[in-house]
Amino acid sequence: MTCTDVTCPVCGMSCDDIYIELTDDAVLTKNACLMGDAKFQELRSHHRLTKPLVHGEEASWDEALEKTADILVNAKRPFFFMGSETSNEAMAVGIEIAEYLGGLVDGNATICHGPTIMGLQLSGQVGSTLGECKNRADLNIYWGCNPADSHPRHMSRHSQFARGFWTEQGFKGRKVIVVDPRRSPTCEAADLHVQLKPGKDHELIDALMTMLRGEEPHPTVEEVTGVSRETLNKMAEMVKECKFGVIWVGLGIASSRGHHYNAAIAMRFTHECNKFTKFVINANRGHCNVAGFNQVLAWTHGFPFAVDFSRGIPRYQPGEYSCVDALSRGEVDAMIVMCANLGGHLPKKAVERLAKIPMIAIETSPGTNAFMSDIILPGVFDGMECEGTFYRMDNVPIYARSFTKPPFDFTESNEHTLKQLFEIVKKKKAEKDAREAKQ
Ligand code: SF4
Repeated sequence: MTCTDVTCPVCGMSCDDIYIELTDDAVLTKNACLMGDAKFQELRSHHRLTKPLVHGEEASWDEALEKTADILVNAKRPFFFMGSETSNEAMAVGIEIAEYLGGLVDGNATICHGPTIMGLQLSGQVGSTLGECKNRADLNIYWGCNPADSHPRHMSRHSQFARGFWTEQGFKGRKVIVVDPRRSPTCEAADLHVQLKPGKDHELIDALMTMLRGEEPHPTVEEVTGVSRETLNKMAEMVKECKFGVIWVGLGIASSRGHHYNAAIAMRFTHECNKFTKFVINANRGHCNVAGFNQVLAWTHGFPFAVDFSRGIPRYQPGEYSCVDALSRGEVDAMIVMCANLGGHLPKKAVERLAKIPMIAIETSPGTNAFMSDIILPGVFDGMECEGTFYRMDNVPIYARSFTKPPFDFTESNEHTLKQLFEIVKKKKAEKDAREAKQ
C-alpha cells in the first residue's frame, strides 16, 4: 500500500509531503528525514505496546479504563499532561476531563518554549507563516537554535535553501546569521556567526536595539557579551539592509538565564527592526504538535499552558500550576500522561513524586514513562493510524490523514480512548457525589 502527502508527526515542521510504502513487515519512506523515518518505522516495531497493562500485568481494555477512572475520580489533585505527539482533538478531550474533575493540565511547552510564549504575552509577536518566510525572507537569523540537527528539513523547505516566489535564487539570494555560543552544524551555512557568551542574549539584544536607535551601546558591551564591536556593527547593518528578515528563536533563548525576559526583548527587537524593514520572529518549536496544546487550551480556556481548574475556573500560573512545580511540591496525587515520555525529562524531585503516586500512560512504546506507570493504555499514532489536526510551529493547523489502522480494535484514536474514559469518569463521579451527599 502506498500513500502520498502524509504529514510527519515528529518535529514542529509537520512536513506534509511524505511518501509511504507500507508492507506487512516494512515501512519505506521518501522525503522524511532520519528523525521522521524513525518514527514511521515504529509502525512495524517489535516493542509496540498493544495490550493494556495494569501494574505490569495484561488486563482487558474495560478493566484498564475502569481502574484509570477510579484513580482519577478519587484523586484530590489529579494532573493531566497532554503530550505533543497526538492530535488537537485528543488534547481537547483531555482538557475537558481535567476541567470536569477540577484537576491541573499542562503540556510539553512547560519544559521547552513556555518562556517564549510568556515573552510573547509580554511583548506581542510579529509572526508569520513558514510560507511567508520561504517566499520573502532574504535574511534568516537562527538565534539559540540549531535547525540542522533539531529540524533537519527546516532550511531546505522553508528558509535558507528553499526557492520561494520572491526568493527564486534560493540560498544565493539569502544571508544567514547564527547567534550561538557553540559552533553548531547550522554555522556551516552562516554568513556571520555571532558567538556570544552563554546566557548573554538579553545584553546582546539590548546593545543591538541601542545601535538601531543610532546610539552607542555601553562601553562594556564587548566584555559582557563576548561579541566584538565589529561583529555587532555588521549584524546591525545586515538587519537594516535586508528586505525581509526572520528571527528563528530556539531554546537557547528560552532556557538560558533571563528566560521569558529574553524572549520578550527578542520580540521587542523585532518591533524595532520593523522601523527599518519587514521583520518577523518565529519559535522553532521542537515536537510536532507542541504548539497545538497551547492553541487548544488558549481557545478553550484563555491560557496557553499551566492551568489549574480546582476552583471551577481556569487559573494560569507558570511556576505554580506547571507540571514540574506542582509535582516537585508533592501536591499532585495522580497523573495521567498522554503521548509524552515525561519520566525521562523531568528533574529528579518531580520524578520522585511521579514514582510515589498512581500514574497512567497513554503510550505507544515502553520508554521511561511506561516503566513508571501503574496503568498503560496502548496509544495510537496520530497522522498514521488515525486522522487529526496538528498545529505546525508557525501556529498553522495542518490536517493529518491516516493511512493505516491501529493493531487493536478497542480504540480508534487517543481521542476515542479519552472519550471512552470520560464516559466512565462521569458515571463514577456521579456515584461518588451521590455517596458523599448521603453521608
Ligand atoms: S523535518 Fe521534522 S516534520 Fe519534517 S520529516 Fe523531519 S522530523 Fe518530520
